[in-house]
Amino acid sequence: MVRLRARLSRSQNALGKGLLTLLSREHLDEDTWEEIEDTLLTADVGVAPTQELVERLRERVRVLGTRTPDELRALLREELLHLVGTDFDRVVKTESGLETPGIVMVVGVNGTGKTTTTGKLARVLVADGRSVVLGAADTFRAAAADQLQTWGERVGARTVRGPEGGDPASIAFDAVKEGIAEGADVVLIDTAGRLHTKTGLMDELGKVKRVVEKHAPLDEVLLVLDATTGQNGLVQARVFAEVVDITGIVLTKLDGTAKGGIVVAVQRELGVPVKLVGLGEGADDLAPFEPEAFVDALIG
Ligand code: GDP
Repeated sequence: MVRLRARLSRSQNALGKGLLTLLSREHLDEDTWEEIEDTLLTADVGVAPTQELVERLRERVRVLGTRTPDELRALLREELLHLVGTDFDRVVKTESGLETPGIVMVVGVNGTGKTTTTGKLARVLVADGRSVVLGAADTFRAAAADQLQTWGERVGARTVRGPEGGDPASIAFDAVKEGIAEGADVVLIDTAGRLHTKTGLMDELGKVKRVVEKHAPLDEVLLVLDATTGQNGLVQARVFAEVVDITGIVLTKLDGTAKGGIVVAVQRELGVPVKLVGLGEGADDLAPFEPEAFVDALIG
């Protein structure tokens, strides 16, 4: 997997640099604090986390009195890290600890990068020496199964698929059965994310989950969110969280936005950590989310 720091610095450090410049002003008056607040809101950090951060910064800057650039940088780094959270367990769980394969279900609205993420994750696992079965349970989008199969062929993972428009739960079921029969290490299930009605989604994902769990425990449910969609992504996250227990978030397309603050907002919203980030369309463009590297990229 690629390293987060090197890939993010170009797009992200507008936020950190902007904050640092503002904090370095000789007189931190109300207008400046408002500008700091605006900078955070523009980067999609979210209202409550922004207010908290500004309050903490105000207090710490006050206590500090005169400020050297290094002190300010260290202070901002600490506070951003606090905001992003260093206590979460961000490991993607792909081992069941049982005889059965680790089962990972990938959910999210179509177009967010679900299938791509499933393919990239398969690649990481295979490169790690694990055998992977892919379940193409996104039967809603016509090309999704082909796309996943292409990924499978590219990375060396078998794809279980069904007829177009077929029943996602029965494909998920077949994929898990296949994984067990083959003695595979991990089964990754790509699902459909049509959000037209919550009940429809709930029925479909709920059924996939139930069917899978008849065979083996579900180790991870990853919600894929497109970082460029801002508040819309948060609305999606809320709906999915009502339908299934999300255990981790994958934030895609972080390469195409300076709005890295969404990491903070979505973790707050769901109480679930960002575990992986998508940094491009290529096979290697998936990285574990590392708070320190992320904050360092922000500050530049
Ligand atoms: P799905 O409908 O959710 O399965 O979405 P896809 O996996 O088909 O992805 C939709 C589009 O987003 C494709 O063109 C992908 O190549 C692109 N994509 C996915 N992840 C990333 C990412 O991290 N960065 C960029 N720039 N594009 C991505």
